[in-house]
Amino acid sequence: YSYYTFIYKLQIEVSNEEQWKEALLAPGLLVVDVYQRWCGPCKAVQNIFRKCKTEYGDDLLRFAVAEADDILELSSLKGKCLPVCLFYSGGKLLSIVRGVNGPLLQKTILELVDVEKKKQQLGSKYVPEVRCLFWVISLRSNYVQEVDMGLSDCSIEMDSRQLAFFFPTLNVTSDTQAGSISEIQKTLALIRPSLLRKRKDEILKTIHDFGFQIAMQREITLTDEQAKEFYKDHDGTDYFPGLINQMTSGPLLALALTREDAVLHWRGLLGPKVVDEAKEKSPESLRAQFAIDNVAINQLHGSSTPEEAQRDLNKFFPTEHTLAVIKPDYTQELRDSIINRIKEAGFSISQVTEKKLTRDMAEEFYKDHVGKYFYNHLVDYMSRGPSVMMILSKENAITEWREMMGPTDPEQAKQGSPNCLRAQFAKSILENVVHGSSNVQHAMDNIMLIFGDIPKQTLLKKEK
Ligand code: GDP
Repeated sequence: YSYYTFIYKLQIEVSNEEQWKEALLAPGLLVVDVYQRWCGPCKAVQNIFRKCKTEYGDDLLRFAVAEADDILELSSLKGKCLPVCLFYSGGKLLSIVRGVNGPLLQKTILELVDVEKKKQQLGSKYVPEVRCLFWVISLRSNYVQEVDMGLSDCSIEMDSRQLAFFFPTLNVTSDTQAGSISEIQKTLALIRPSLLRKRKDEILKTIHDFGFQIAMQREITLTDEQAKEFYKDHDGTDYFPGLINQMTSGPLLALALTREDAVLHWRGLLGPKVVDEAKEKSPESLRAQFAIDNVAINQLHGSSTPEEAQRDLNKFFPTEHTLAVIKPDYTQELRDSIINRIKEAGFSISQVTEKKLTRDMAEEFYKDHVGKYFYNHLVDYMSRGPSVMMILSKENAITEWREMMGPTDPEQAKQGSPNCLRAQFAKSILENVVHGSSNVQHAMDNIMLIFGDIPKQTLLKKEK
């Protein structure tokens, strides 16, 4: 991470307990950007800080950067991927802002600097106008105390969300939403054609190094129409033709990335949209690092909000439907545990029925295998008792259900993917417990054969 080692003039660097104490006890407001070793200090907040410093002056406002691993008091912030700013005065923690929320950071700084000003003007005569209680948290000992800090003529309060962020296991108040603090999210990332052609392995490794999992990926060459539709909000800008040109110049790679706070985190890593600006102002950003010579368009896209991510993901990974079958001779227990695994994996079961196939239907179902040595056994097996037939719906459902099933032969499955259903439950290569359609056409044929016309409406409704 050599490109993250900057010398900060704006912020003092605090890297041991002694420096930490010294920084805390100096007069005025101290704003600490807490960062993680693997991602470095947050560049985006520095512009905001610089602006505040120009506006509010030097003497009452100081900035520091500290690495969560270095300071005991910050140890509960280790491993958090969002930038976090802590605000201290007189050694006491006054407020916390997480994420690069410019307006909130500025508002918080403004209000707390005002308090400092008042304190300075009035000296020992300083009495807060309204007294109220602040949550004071001791990051070191992991407990929460309500303490009157006498600083209450500013309106900032630490809310339960912020507390829960620091103490995920702590039940602070009934409305604590610990789950929403560091939620595992999905976001859409696009690697544009020029970058994909030239540095695919490198960018994928970088994505991985930043803690993202690739939940789904798809290489696709967009048509002119599709690219224009995807970027219709940019139609009319001077860069629109170049953008469409770049987007359609070859295959691009669409990725569904997951990790906690994926949307914000991925956006944060990308940096400014305009490549020259990225290079100048955030040389460490991915758009600067992965710019392609002589290509003006940045090479990486990321959704801006969780809502946009959902819409973007739906475009590149639309909901798919597949037929899943639990083959005959299953026990209730096996059926229930397979259905649970299906739900846990995030599929929705749009239709389900238990049905004994007739020989005719079994023959039709496996018509592609006519003539193979196992064909008659297969038809016998599939028609000798009821099967559970389900329509599973999810993005990428066909591939994902096949992954859950595992290879046709359970011996091979046990070698390569011991957690798959066939490795765990199949008796033999023939009696291998589950079926799943192998492609879109098969899925449609399978579903029509088993459910006839009924699901058509269900599926269409789902797709809207
Ligand atoms: P699937 O998509 O993994 O179910 O595999 P296929 O479509 O190739 O085969 C359909 C079904 O036929 C399998 O699930 C097995 O029940 C059976 N089958 C496939 N290959 C063999 C084989 O080599 N021997 C035997 N006995 N059965 C097989």
